[in-house]
Amino acid sequence: MANPQLTAYISLVTTSGVLILLLFIYSFVKRKQTPFAYTFMLFTAAQCVYVFGHAFELASNTLEQIKHWTMVEYAGMPFAAALGLIVIMKYIGKTVSTKTGLLMCVIPFISFLMVLTNDYHHLFYKGMYLRADAPSPMADVSIGQWYIVHGAYTFGCLFTATTLLVRRWRSTKKAYRFQLATLIISQLLPMSAAFVYLLGITPYGMDPVPITMCVTASLFIWSIAASRLLTIVPIAKESIFESMREGVIVLDANRRIIDYNHAVKGMVPLLHSGVIGTSMDDVWPRLTGRAFPDDVSVDGLEEEVHWPSADGLSSYQARISLVTNKKGDAIGMLLMLIDVTEQRMLQEQLKKLAYYDGLTGIYNRTQFLVEGRALLEEAGGKPVSLILFDIDHFKQINDTYGHETGDQALKHIVSVCQRFMLPEMPFARYGGEEFVIALPSAKLSEAVRLAEDICKALQQNTLHFKGNAIDVTSSFGVVQQLSDTETLEAILRRADEALYTSKKEGRNRVTAAA
Ligand code: GH3
Ligand code: MG
Ligand code: MG
Repeated sequence: MANPQLTAYISLVTTSGVLILLLFIYSFVKRKQTPFAYTFMLFTAAQCVYVFGHAFELASNTLEQIKHWTMVEYAGMPFAAALGLIVIMKYIGKTVSTKTGLLMCVIPFISFLMVLTNDYHHLFYKGMYLRADAPSPMADVSIGQWYIVHGAYTFGCLFTATTLLVRRWRSTKKAYRFQLATLIISQLLPMSAAFVYLLGITPYGMDPVPITMCVTASLFIWSIAASRLLTIVPIAKESIFESMREGVIVLDANRRIIDYNHAVKGMVPLLHSGVIGTSMDDVWPRLTGRAFPDDVSVDGLEEEVHWPSADGLSSYQARISLVTNKKGDAIGMLLMLIDVTEQRMLQEQLKKLAYYDGLTGIYNRTQFLVEGRALLEEAGGKPVSLILFDIDHFKQINDTYGHETGDQALKHIVSVCQRFMLPEMPFARYGGEEFVIALPSAKLSEAVRLAEDICKALQQNTLHFKGNAIDVTSSFGVVQQLSDTETLEAILRRADEALYTSKKEGRNRVTAAA
């Protein structure tokens, strides 16, 4: 211990340890704001154990003490490499599940166990001796089989992490490059040091890695202060692309599919990896039955498309836009799909509520007035007739059999009538138990004939419901528009008068307006 160089060296190693400890404390304090605080805490904790263990190893006087502190070092070092890689993976936006994380720590854990039990199998160190040439007690080792596995794994982790980071360089915004550089150095420096160590060219076979941590820890602290590393971390563009709810398909300049995100896989059934490279001019018509648009600009165009999905027909808002480079040349296209199925379904439901009667499913009064007026306008001199009818003694049906049976009677009437209905005849529930039919291009006599057919059919079709047989008849009023100028309201008024006559004269009959 009297060696001043060794003392300086130990001080440097201890300084590394203290700096790493500061990083650990910082990430603990900021754990709420840090996206991967717990991994970073584990990483720095493992480094701390390693570095302090190493400091004590250096200060040891006997081989026994050296062995003891080596065990402590190995409780940290192998894990630090794996945890460092996990930190980097999380930094660049990859999700690392706990299971994956634990799997990545299997080899470090075995290495640790190997060191603990080395005296029994010598698989990690074949031998450990005190060096004769060192000015103070230092160990020389000859490596065993597992040491090679451990070395390769540690190296592999550092190398993978470095590669992952370097590959990010180009796609990383300038503001984040300092962070990225810090992280690259934090992997590269120990890797280089470990390499030099393995070459066996360090004085007295000393491990230079803990010293490099003095530099990397300082860089980390500087980077935290300067660019808020840890608390402000860029989200990788790929992660955004993959986690978007909107489906995105990227096409090249030749309209071929070159990429798509996760969301689109759920939307477009025929997307599988084999589709990469296929032209959208083949895929789009198969999906939508339409040609893929030609006139796409930078501003893009929108169209609504539909195709069958697992739960029926799905609707998508498709936004297609041109992608250009800085010079303005078209380099590809972007197709964005937004699922609007639910909106369309809601719109459909609202339409139903607005236009149709909830109980019988035919038009409601409001929609009948719209359709009826349109029909009169479009008549173009042709006759238009109208049938208005009201259920006889409906109150009695309600009172005798209950409201539910009453409702059933209303549905029954509609289903009987529908047998006589043509698509061009607006048929509506005009009021509580009153119905109306408009007949385009029909004279009074034709309308009367239809009314009589319906009247007869109603009389012949008894309603069977809940064990009851109920006769449901109706009284009819039939009119023809007197002239082009007679309004729908006026026609309906005359129809109502004719209907009233039917009621007065004994019900279950048809009266034509005079
Ligand atoms: P009339 O032969 O003179 O037409 O006699 P009515 O009993 O049919 O005439 P009234 O207008 O007195 O009765 C209509 C009844 O229709 C009263 C109302 O409770 C019932 N009603 C209206 N809408 C509904 C409905 O949606 N369901 C049921 N079950 N009953 C309805
Ligand atoms: Mg009535
Ligand atoms: Mg009635």
